Amino acid sequence: MQDNESAHPSVVDHERLSSLINSMADGVLAIDEELKIVLYNGSALNILDVNGSIAGKPIAQVLQPVTKDGDRVDVWSLIHSANTPMTTRDYLLEYDDRSRSALYLSIAPVHLGYGKQGVQGYVLLLRDITHEKSLEEERDEFISVISHELRTPVTIAEGSLSNAIYAANQPKMDNKTVLDALQTAHEQVYFLANLINDLSMLSRADRDNLVLDITQINMRALLEKMIEGFNRQAQEKGLELEVDYDPKLELLESGKLYVEEVLQNLITNALKYTQKGSVYIKAWPTEKGVSVSVQDSGIGISKVDQEKIFQKFFRSEDYRTRESSGTGLGLYVTMKLIHLLRSDLEVTSELNQGSTFIVHFVNLDA
Ligand code: ADP
Repeated sequence: MQDNESAHPSVVDHERLSSLINSMADGVLAIDEELKIVLYNGSALNILDVNGSIAGKPIAQVLQPVTKDGDRVDVWSLIHSANTPMTTRDYLLEYDDRSRSALYLSIAPVHLGYGKQGVQGYVLLLRDITHEKSLEEERDEFISVISHELRTPVTIAEGSLSNAIYAANQPKMDNKTVLDALQTAHEQVYFLANLINDLSMLSRADRDNLVLDITQINMRALLEKMIEGFNRQAQEKGLELEVDYDPKLELLESGKLYVEEVLQNLITNALKYTQKGSVYIKAWPTEKGVSVSVQDSGIGISKVDQEKIFQKFFRSEDYRTRESSGTGLGLYVTMKLIHLLRSDLEVTSELNQGSTFIVHFVNLDA
């Protein structure tokens, strides 16, 4: 059996322990029975944003967490209630400049002294989990947006297919009813396929591992091919879709797949957010490459929203935006691709007048 004396750590042990605690990324605070600080490390000072010694100070003076709603947490009661080790990820720390960080806090009751006479106290671990929390919130939002976006087309497609089956089973099958129902189901499945494309592009863009395959792009041919695909959509909405190529338009050296994706997103939006009038596309050569503008006479984007449209999941609150489906991912991905292509994007827009997106593509070295 060890007596109290021999159970004391040597000076070397003590130094080892201090350097171990000081090298920890987590903040460590040890407090005595009166809840005064007896030991702490540098990370604790960082997280609490204090300079100078905090030894001997009451914990409640140094650690002042708040709830999500900004209410002060009673640290005394919280610590006293920790009869066994407990952790919480529910609180925040508020700093003098009113900024906040999400806090991981673990409280463990311990014997701070050595041997039987040891003083009862607590060891607190603190970690700034702001980044993890925002990732969690983003993931939750992502799941909720995606499940909402999936539900509508799946419900419509399922309903239309069941109508088609019913109609096809009638003794006198009406071809038109069956075809209409199949057409609707097809459109919804097509929308789902596009959504999946957006999602896979988003996941690759977010992991920053997009690979650029630089080739010579005939911009006129590319735009002509794209417009062909958009013509039907424009006609259905009664919109004019026009393209104007500068006669001096030259080849662009860039990543064809991503140039096409950027233009596809901008033209899709222009047609989606325009109820009447036109979508006018123009392409011209510049000193550094090729610029393309996509101008629409649609609902426009307010000044406030213009600041937000490139954020992940942002969709305007305007009811006219909500009339058409979307995920708020298109422009986010577009901006990622534009950075990858080392190009620039300009937006000008006026509510109820229309919007113009101009992309300045630059030639890249192969
Ligand atoms: P989505 O179209 O799926 O909602 P985007 O990321 O492509 O997502 O666009 C984000 C938001 O920006 C849209 O929801 C809409 O509010 C606004 N927006 C984008 N393009 C236009 C446009 N041409 N005209 C009006 N609003 C637009």
